This record gives sequence, C-alpha cells and structure tokens, in this order.
Amino acid sequence: MTSASDTFIEALPKAELHVHLEGTLEPGLKIVLARRHGHPLQNRTEEEIRSGYSFHDLPSFLALYYEGMELLNTEQDFYDLCYAYLKKVASQNVLYTEMFFDPQLHTRRGVPFRTVITGLGRARRDAEKDFGIHSQLVMCFIREMSAESADETFTQALPYLSEIVGVGLDSDEKGNPPAKFAHVFQRARDAGLHVTMHCDIDQENTHEHIRQALEDLGSERLDHGLNVLEKPELLKQARERRIPFTVCPFPNMAIRPGSNEKDIRALLDAGLTITINSDDPGYMQSVYITEAMKMARDGAQLTPEELLAISRNAFNAAWIGEGERSTYLDRLDAFARQQGLMVPAA
Ligand SMILES: [Zn+2]
Repeated sequence: MTSASDTFIEALPKAELHVHLEGTLEPGLKIVLARRHGHPLQNRTEEEIRSGYSFHDLPSFLALYYEGMELLNTEQDFYDLCYAYLKKVASQNVLYTEMFFDPQLHTRRGVPFRTVITGLGRARRDAEKDFGIHSQLVMCFIREMSAESADETFTQALPYLSEIVGVGLDSDEKGNPPAKFAHVFQRARDAGLHVTMHCDIDQENTHEHIRQALEDLGSERLDHGLNVLEKPELLKQARERRIPFTVCPFPNMAIRPGSNEKDIRALLDAGLTITINSDDPGYMQSVYITEAMKMARDGAQLTPEELLAISRNAFNAAWIGEGERSTYLDRLDAFARQQGLMVPAA
C-alpha cells in the first residue's frame, strides 16, 4: 500500500477536534499584541520568540504556554487570536472545528469571562461569514486549579451556555485526576453539554485516570489517551463504546519519540476510532492539522483510505446536528470519488 501524498492530505476535507485556542498564538501575533499593550515582547523578533520554544514534557510545555497568556487582555485580543486560527485552518480545508479555551487562565488575571467569550464569539461568526468555516467552543477546566474554581467558572459561563458545546479538562495532570472534577462535570452534563477530557501521555496513574474519565465522568471522547493501549480491559471498553481518541502527532513526537511510528498504527490495529489534530500549533512549529496529518502519515505510513477514514471519524465524532454532519460527509464522499477511492455504503 502506498502512503497518502501531500496533495491528497492538503485537499482532504477535515474536522479538527483537539486544538487549544490559546495554543494557536503565533509569535507574529504575540508581537502585534505586545505592541498593542506596550509589553516588552514587542522588541523581540519572531525567530527569537520561536527559538525559546523547547519542551520535553507537560510541565516544561506549560511553563512556556502560560507566559504567552498575559498578552491576551481585551475582547479584540481574543477576537484576533480566534480569527487567525480559523482563517489558517479554513485554508487547509477544515470545514468544522471544536476549539478548546481555558477561561481560568484569563479570569485569574482579572480578565472578565465575558471579554473572553465575546471576543471568541465575534471571531467565530465573522470567520464563518468570511471563510465558510463552522466552529464551536469547548470550555476546559485547568486541572491544577481547585474543583471550587472550576465550579465558579461554570457558574460564570451559565449566561453564555449557548456559545459552548462541551466541557473538557486540561493542563497539569499530575495529582489531578478526573475524579477531582466530578461535580462540575455532572453540572455540565445536566446542562446538556458534551464532555471530553485530556488523558495526557505517560502520566502518573494514567490508567486509573482513563478509567475514571470513561466510567465515572461520562467522557464521550479522550484527548490523547494513548496509554489505553497498555490495558486490555480499557481498550475493549473504548472499542466497544467507539470512543474517539483525539491524537496529536506533534506532542506525541516531542514527549514520546517514536510514538507516531508505533502508537498510531497500534491504535488503528486495535480497532480504535482515532482523529488527527494539532493541539497547540502556535507553540509547536506551526504544525496545524494538515502538517499533523503529514507527520502521522510519515510515522505510521497511512494510506489515502486510512486518512479518509480518520477524517470521517472526526466528522462522526463532532458535536453537531445530523443535517450538518451529512453535509460534511457528502463533501468527504465526493472528494473520495474524485480520488477514485471507495465510499462506504450509507
Ligand atoms: Zn491538548
């Protein structure tokens, strides 16, 4: 079997389900925001900023990541952040995306919740008008912050629930199991929101965290979740429930070298439902979804049929209405026929 070509991957209609908006902050936009706010970063070049980015595990990544947050202050800052990401991925044939945002990173610095959500909402609507890309927001809780803070954040979000399709859990996993947030996730489910959460790679107690996410907290997807491969009973459950795994080749490679070669193939061989995503492209050498798919292709020798199936998984896992889903799947089927590939019977 031949691996998919670059042009196939570029033209493939896509959905992205694992991207952190704050992680899409590119060095170029950092400088624009630094000038806007008179921040010392305005004197650095893009190359200087980029050369400071190196990480080898979750805490070293998070230290870098949090540094960029202080540039995001006004509604216009959040607008610019979100609009830039949507413009970029619309050019990569992303038809639909669910974007994580971390309100606590901002509210704890005194930025009102309303400022964040209003700026993001305006950008989403403008990008849809300008580029035809539909997007929704998934609100993440910061796991090293308290359960009370997550609850407070959910309360702040109540007037804006129509802007949010689901909730997630991210940041430093060590000592912060999903169970810590059982209450706020219950509130989210009661409010009709969807639920996902990060189970990052090779974390302490990772199998218990995956178990809690799947069995106790009603997680409908797993973000990363690669350690599922080591536990047959969790793997069986994930396969039977068709839990989508949002796999991100760039951090996989940075944190567990060789992961894309071995793990992506192992996930597919195990019959799991996977999607391919970028995670934090602004901090990860501008590896957006197209580049992430190329990395996955290079690692696991993915064929056009496999990438087509992966894209189909993302549209099927998206938290959208059935009418919208059919529209995307029709576009995907049309692309497949154009490429001379088989289209599965409806
Ligand atoms: Zn992530």
